[in-house]
Amino acid sequence: MGRRGEGQHSCQRCQSTGDDVEQRGRAVPLGWLCDKDWADAVRIAVAADGSTGWPEEDPDDLTFHEPQPCPDCGAPLTYFITNYGRRIALEADEVPAKTIPSRYQWRLLPTTARNSRYVIRLTAVHFGGIEPLPDTLVRPAHAAVCPAPTARDQVDDERVRDLARARRRLAHPEQDAAG
Ligand SMILES: [Zn+2]
Ligand SMILES: [Zn+2]
Repeated sequence: MGRRGEGQHSCQRCQSTGDDVEQRGRAVPLGWLCDKDWADAVRIAVAADGSTGWPEEDPDDLTFHEPQPCPDCGAPLTYFITNYGRRIALEADEVPAKTIPSRYQWRLLPTTARNSRYVIRLTAVHFGGIEPLPDTLVRPAHAAVCPAPTARDQVDDERVRDLARARRRLAHPEQDAAG
């Protein structure tokens, strides 16, 4: 039986104190979670942000990868590691948040070496529920600007979804008095 020291962290979801409980999040702390609950959190994040896994079996390889062509339009893509350890292709230029649906809004968070301003890595962080102001500059996921028809259709769907969400929020303060 392994001894648990004082201050052993337990999983925020299941209260487990196993050896697999770790502080999660590559750049922004996401809390202490066991492997299973972390896998669940990653699944939920991926559904919301459209990130994907790495093609090779080495998620800890932090070197920048050669650009790869978009499978839909052929444009060379630059991938970044997300805060959840997945990857996402981001465009080179920032745009105002209001110009793209929330699903595609990212920022790059630099991690600097200790006592230095030398950036040792960049992590892609999805805005998610944070909702930037309309003129805040965001890095769009490539999918937001990909000219392929499937990508355009999804962007249209996301615009509709954002509008519905905004309307729901406006309507929320007043209780729905039907009648
Ligand atoms: Zn757990
Ligand atoms: Zn594309």
